[in-house]
Amino acid sequence: MTTDSPRRVVPQPDELTQPFWDAVAEGRLMAQRCQQCGFYSHPPRIICNECHSFDLKWEPVSGKGKLYSYEVMHMQSITGFEDRVPYRTVLVELDEQPKLLFLGYLPGADDGSLTLGMPMEVFFEKIEGTDQTLPQFRPAK
Ligand SMILES: [Zn+2]
Repeated sequence: MTTDSPRRVVPQPDELTQPFWDAVAEGRLMAQRCQQCGFYSHPPRIICNECHSFDLKWEPVSGKGKLYSYEVMHMQSITGFEDRVPYRTVLVELDEQPKLLFLGYLPGADDGSLTLGMPMEVFFEKIEGTDQTLPQFRPAK
């Protein structure tokens, strides 16, 4: 991670994460999947957590899931988000597999609109002033 202009942090892909970010730039969500046992991994790993195979390939995932957890941030301690408080960070469990979790950001305070287990969906947000796209999650329509 590094800081772009003016302060927002953007991902710095490496060999392991480049395929994920390439897909995100095209508006697609991908996760690694073990070709031996079918287990999905996110964030990316070099070895399957289930069977320890190195045979992991990138596969598309639905981007649909359920709200696993969320929190409301009030502290101005995260670089680039100082003037955005309060906001919510959401953890979404994709339909493909239990505990296949993706993190997202939702602007705004806790307005009672989020309930654990509610259907969520991915969308893609371009970071203003950059070429960077991020996957985010919102309540499913
Ligand atoms: Zn495996």
